[in-house]
Amino acid sequence: MAAQPEAGNAGKKVEAAGGPVLVASGNGLRCTSLAREMVLGGSNLLDAIVAGVKIVEDDPNDWSVGYGGLPNEEGVVELDASIMDGPLHRAGSVGALRNIKNPAAVALQVLRRTDHVMLVGEGALKFARAMGFKEEELLTEEARKEWLRWKANLNKEDKWLDDDQVIRAGEGYTPRRTGEASPHNADPGGPIRPDSPIRHTTGTVHVSGVTGMGDVGSCTSTSGLSWKLPGRLGDSPIVGAGMYCDNAVGAAGATGRGEAVIQVCGAFSIVQHMEAGLSPTEACLAVAKRMVDRTREKRLLDEKGRPAFNVTFYAVRKDGSHGSASVWSGSRYAVSDGKGNRMEDSAFLFSKD
Ligand code: ASP
Repeated sequence: MAAQPEAGNAGKKVEAAGGPVLVASGNGLRCTSLAREMVLGGSNLLDAIVAGVKIVEDDPNDWSVGYGGLPNEEGVVELDASIMDGPLHRAGSVGALRNIKNPAAVALQVLRRTDHVMLVGEGALKFARAMGFKEEELLTEEARKEWLRWKANLNKEDKWLDDDQVIRAGEGYTPRRTGEASPHNADPGGPIRPDSPIRHTTGTVHVSGVTGMGDVGSCTSTSGLSWKLPGRLGDSPIVGAGMYCDNAVGAAGATGRGEAVIQVCGAFSIVQHMEAGLSPTEACLAVAKRMVDRTREKRLLDEKGRPAFNVTFYAVRKDGSHGSASVWSGSRYAVSDGKGNRMEDSAFLFSKD
């Protein structure tokens, strides 16, 4: 395996007006803050983003990413991540990775140390081992209890696709074989009560950034949909779906129902729209609209024909402008720029109110 050249402006002080801009999903405020500090201190953008993402991957209270992520239907945590470097136009990705809590860092090694873009399953684990990553159990006691509770509530009559799945508009996507509606990002880390609804988390951390020199990068990391079929990959490890960047334009990413994002090449499409002249928010809205227009299966629509799931897109342009848009109202995203580290409201297509 040959080492790849370092990407971007590693080691150089960032001096351009405005400085670096980092955007992230709602759970990524700590990521944007750390990543921007690191870039200002001269770190390579991708190293800074991966360090930021690691905070969420290491956090057992985030049920949607890394250590403590909710498992697949067999009770095994499988993680997905992808990362892309603007200056080299190179990507790295891992899917269905077990026992390694920092898949974004492994994806970065795929980018830097191999001629490949994507490694999955056993091969991804072997590669991570070879790169010196520590193997450990990722299923926390809390997540295990929640998985047991989900199993206990299964109905033997349920099929992979139930016509009568209960999906409440704007509140997230209820996976098959459940019968219970669940809010998107359902109170991750909150106390488990015996009577509380079983959580079906569809959460993820996404971070995109641009340096003061105009180099871009993008990364997404997730434990995917809880109770998924073993081997299921969502959008997060798919380059062009869960994240994408182009150094001539900007970077973008997605969280939410991965199956919907994959089928409109979400992040790639946002970058294309920005290249055509749309602002980051307009580009996110345009792709959200296309995704909604292409959602035709009845089981994914509410009684008014609106999508019964949520997706949020994030984007930053090479000039530092940024934006985000969701299918449903209520999403926020993290931003760190010269004005500070803060949350901003995402635009949306449909209001929950
Ligand atoms: N997009 C992720 C997936 O489908 C989950 C999420 O972001 O909610 O795996």
